[in-house]
Amino acid sequence: MAGTSTIETKCEKCGNTFEATVVDHLTLVLNEDLELAKALKTGRINRAQCPKCKKVTYIERSIVINFEPQNLIVFYDKNASDEAVRQEIMSKYENVTRFNEILEEARSDIEFQIVSSAEKLKDLIDEYLKQRI
Ligand SMILES: [Zn+2]
Repeated sequence: MAGTSTIETKCEKCGNTFEATVVDHLTLVLNEDLELAKALKTGRINRAQCPKCKKVTYIERSIVINFEPQNLIVFYDKNASDEAVRQEIMSKYENVTRFNEILEEARSDIEFQIVSSAEKLKDLIDEYLKQRI
C-alpha cells in the first residue's frame, strides 16, 4: 500500500521537464513486500523515465515507511541530519497524532524514527527482512 503524488522533474540528460509519480509514504508488510523493500534499500523506489529520451533516473526525496507488523514508522529524509529539520519533523508528527483519535491511541505502541542516511535505512531494512519466515 502506497501513497503517491505527482511532481515535475527535469531530465538530467536532455533537459526535458516531465511529470513523475513518486511515493510519499508506504506500508511494508513482512513476507509480502520483498520487492518494495529491496527497491527502498537500493534507493530505487522512485523511478522516473524521461518520455523524450527514455533516460531513467531515481528521484531522491523524503519518504515515510510504516513497517508491519513491527509498528515502526520511519521518516527517511536526507536533510534530517540537521537538528532543526529533525525538530520540525518531530513536531509535525506530534501534531498529526494529537489531532487524530486513532493515531493518538495507537501512538504508545508505535515507534517513530527519523533516518537521514541511506546506509542506516539499508541496515534497518536488512534487519527487518531477517524476520521473514
Ligand atoms: Zn530526457
